[in-house]
Amino acid sequence: MHYVSTRAATAAAAAASPDSPRFSDILLGGLATDGGLFLPAEYPQVTGAELDAWRQLSYADLAFEILRKFATDIPEADLRALTARTYTQDVYRNARADDDAARITPLRVLEEGADGSKLMLQALSNGPTLAFKDMAMQLLGNLFEYALARQNAELNIFGATSGDTGSAAEYAMRGKRGIRVFMLSPHRKMSAFQTAQMFSLQDPNIFNIAIEGVFDDAQDMVKAVSNDLAFKTRHKIGTVNSINWARVVAQVVYYFRGYLEATTANDQKVSFTVPSGNFGNICAGHIARMMGLPIDKLVAATNENDVLDEFFRTGVYRVRKSSETYHTSSPSMDISKASNFERFVYELVGRDGDRTRALFRKVETHGGFDLSGKPGSDGDEFKLVAKYGFASGKSTHADRLDTIRDVADDYGIVIDTHTADGVKVAREHLQPGVPMIVLETALAAKFNETILEALGEDAERPPGFEHIEDLPQKFVVMQADVEAMKAYIAANTGL
Ligand SMILES: *Cc1c(COP(=O)(O)O)cnc(C)c1O
Repeated sequence: MHYVSTRAATAAAAAASPDSPRFSDILLGGLATDGGLFLPAEYPQVTGAELDAWRQLSYADLAFEILRKFATDIPEADLRALTARTYTQDVYRNARADDDAARITPLRVLEEGADGSKLMLQALSNGPTLAFKDMAMQLLGNLFEYALARQNAELNIFGATSGDTGSAAEYAMRGKRGIRVFMLSPHRKMSAFQTAQMFSLQDPNIFNIAIEGVFDDAQDMVKAVSNDLAFKTRHKIGTVNSINWARVVAQVVYYFRGYLEATTANDQKVSFTVPSGNFGNICAGHIARMMGLPIDKLVAATNENDVLDEFFRTGVYRVRKSSETYHTSSPSMDISKASNFERFVYELVGRDGDRTRALFRKVETHGGFDLSGKPGSDGDEFKLVAKYGFASGKSTHADRLDTIRDVADDYGIVIDTHTADGVKVAREHLQPGVPMIVLETALAAKFNETILEALGEDAERPPGFEHIEDLPQKFVVMQADVEAMKAYIAANTGL
């Protein structure tokens, strides 16, 4: 299995070339050198017989079966050991008391309509940081450690976070040989829970750096350091952001799992609604569908930051300025542009790397592009969107409060704000005979401020999280000063 860049001039030729990268080559990297994102030269297909056999598998074994189709350059015994170590009940242990934790991503029915519609919830947030990012990041930690050990190499992960990604990365990389994590966050801007989660880690390979400023200041520091290629190479700097291909692939697994749990035979279809920001999660659903998983609709749910909803309604992709980005109560979806969206656009324009490059160049020069087919637009591919199953909807703070209350009243479970965006939008897309699975992307305890506002009481915390705010914290506070940052990294990598 070879990979191609979404901006490669001649994808077909590149795919055929023995020099095109394989899974291990792109594992530790980010963008392709031409600025594009990596995708498989072609999607591996699943057969009905495979789906039948996979109905019996544990999550770890299912993950192995799917990953081996994409990571053909990792010996199968090694891959099986990696997935077995990653997807255990020990790691994903925060399931609700009445869920079957052994299923890793347990599925439950919320409601069955008289018309044969069905609304379901798939829990993806039972990992150490209570958000779905653990599903992929935990695997990434083990894959990185494995790959670095084979090359006898080191990696220093450098990133900025406003919450979920940074903590998932730290919990995945803590204690891993050959890896350090330098994670920037805006000083005193994260919730007390998120801060405690990250800063209470005492592992010597985890460096929490609180920047005097807002998230964008922290993000700008990461860009400035990463643009210094000599420094980046010398200090073996890498990232784990949402465009990382291994993260996307790890997320493909739970779409299969949700499908297999919701159905009894392969002639049945299901739909998914996905609380979306950077389009990483739902992109994995698209890939599962392209592999032949019988998915009917993939519904992108956004909050007030509706870049994606706008595209799926109109065909216009219009990125926002950071001053136009709302700070909402589902903050992990507060994005101004969707960094994985290029993977879908490449598909939509018929895997034409030249078109994809031109369109995303236009994003830089004109802030977006228009595929509506209207006079003056950049193309008419919007008409193909439905063929790929995509639909969308958006939700507001008031909708989140209403939905959290509704779901608590009607089904006795407390959902988080991002999942509430999903449930609100899912209800607008229910169809008779096709189960609708909403992906639960975080546990409510993580966003307690809004739960309190909606329900007048605190969200329940999983055991072990009761007093995390009281634990000793390890972090340094720094000004947004690039040279000081480089000096800090250099001092701590010893390179
Ligand atoms: C990251 C995140 C999202 C958005 O996922 P994308 O892959 O960026 O679309 C949604 N909900 C939660 C809780 C998240 O942490």
